[in-house]
Amino acid sequence: MSTSNPVERTDIIIIGTGFSGLAMGAQLKRRGRESFVILERANDVGGTWRDNQYPGAACDQPSHMYSLSFRLNPDWSSAFSAQPEIWEYLRTTAREEHLMPHIRFNSEVLDASWDEDEQQWTVTTGAGTYVGRILVSASGLLSEPKLPDIEGLEAFTGDLFHSARWDHRTPLAGKRVGVIGTGASGIQIIPEVAKEVAHLTVFQRTPHWIVPRADKEYSASEKGMFRKDPAVMQQLRTQMFWENEERFAQRAAIPSLLAKATELALGHLQAQIPNNELRAKLTPKYEIGCKRILKSNDYYPALQRDNVDLVTAGIEQVDGNTIVMQDGSRHELDALVLATGFEATDPPIAKRIHGRSGRSLSERWSHGAEAYKTISVSGFPNLFVLGGPNTGIGHNSQVYMFEAQVEHVLGALDYISVNHIPALEVTPEAEDEFKESVDRRASTTVWLTGGCSTWYIDPRNGRLTTLWPDYSHTFQKEVAPFSPSAYQTLRTGADSTPVEGTR
Ligand code: NAP
Repeated sequence: MSTSNPVERTDIIIIGTGFSGLAMGAQLKRRGRESFVILERANDVGGTWRDNQYPGAACDQPSHMYSLSFRLNPDWSSAFSAQPEIWEYLRTTAREEHLMPHIRFNSEVLDASWDEDEQQWTVTTGAGTYVGRILVSASGLLSEPKLPDIEGLEAFTGDLFHSARWDHRTPLAGKRVGVIGTGASGIQIIPEVAKEVAHLTVFQRTPHWIVPRADKEYSASEKGMFRKDPAVMQQLRTQMFWENEERFAQRAAIPSLLAKATELALGHLQAQIPNNELRAKLTPKYEIGCKRILKSNDYYPALQRDNVDLVTAGIEQVDGNTIVMQDGSRHELDALVLATGFEATDPPIAKRIHGRSGRSLSERWSHGAEAYKTISVSGFPNLFVLGGPNTGIGHNSQVYMFEAQVEHVLGALDYISVNHIPALEVTPEAEDEFKESVDRRASTTVWLTGGCSTWYIDPRNGRLTTLWPDYSHTFQKEVAPFSPSAYQTLRTGADSTPVEGTR
């Protein structure tokens, strides 16, 4: 083993220490599996909750539900906890689940290739090489910032950063600041930044539907009760889960439910924005739920501050430190924040994962991402993708979805171990059947019928590839169980074409 290029052998290689990677590691550990590493490109755990440190960052799903089922936390300070608290929860999880010795920090995956002769994965990172039988990609649905395609943006002469790469060394106080984007991140950033800057220009392309945020702080006695009697906490979690589940019926585009949700959002807008002209700019022209329904009590008030302007003319180009609009107006800025979302439909990690015949996952997904039960991709033996195609959820807890996927992977690992299978790969038939079932359900949802443009839909094929088009509990029921009949084993040796069905 050379010190310049160390090679570490292990059984399972996990990429990423966000919610899904840590859940996977914790469950391996709890089942007595020790031979695994978790590769992390940063110097700390936490995924999106480490990266999104913008002012106002918080989760819009209740913390008692947006947390791991096997690590309930009596100490959540409020219904919708802020980023530092969720990040700390994940750091504590890594420590208390004894995952730290397994994590390799500052180890960005540069390439992961399936070795057909040895039937193993070789993963090259900036800090060393890892060889293992199983690869679990838990690199996140929303980990790569998406920069808008605006002429001259790269030459902007002020300070420029994305919401998920907040530059804390650049204070915004007293400056002329612009924020592009009014999605889930933008509406959390804008009220906070507005308080300290000299002037804030909000560049809105499309208004979002926004409903009130029913936040609540937990008292010391409530936290004490949760600690003393975890069953109470579990009951609260269950109640929150089923309340959220009801909201899927809305996304299924049932007209009476859409009308009820629209009424709630319009009432909120009417109550908070008395000015007709401003209210018109903020009224969406597509069905509610087509884009993520946002929760905020302070976004609309922030837009009415004397030092804030909402501009909607559409950005033409960036000229030096000035944003030039399509109507010719110009906005001079000292700093520009891009709250413009993430590369969700074409994740960069897919370019770095190579399966049989050296084909990259990105090539395999060139017409849009798809995976059997959201996890397994034909042509990619012993690869399991967490948080990949069709795992996103807007109406309930994303963590719940990851846990269902982890259960499936654990089933596959047991099957591989018990049957001494060198390489397991999903059949194209099982993959196609699952895809058709996803498409069938997606076709009637508000995401495909609601008349909006959304990153939930892959522009390359018009399919809903990021979100799960059904209830979360249905996801659990369908995705969590591992069924060997959907998989085939591969012949050992150089010719690793699938030959042996496992049905
Ligand atoms: P996003 O929802 O994709 O919103 C991006 C915003 O940038 C949109 O308003 C978009 O306008 C705008 N935009 C993009 N390119 C533009 C351009 N060239 N010119 C003008 N505007 C442009 O991104 P996000 O707000 O970061 O949220 C992404 C996801 O992160 C959420 O859906 C959610 O899943 C997650 N998130 C969750 C929380 C939470 O509380 N749990 C908080 C933050 C984020 P258009 O609408 O016109 O495209």
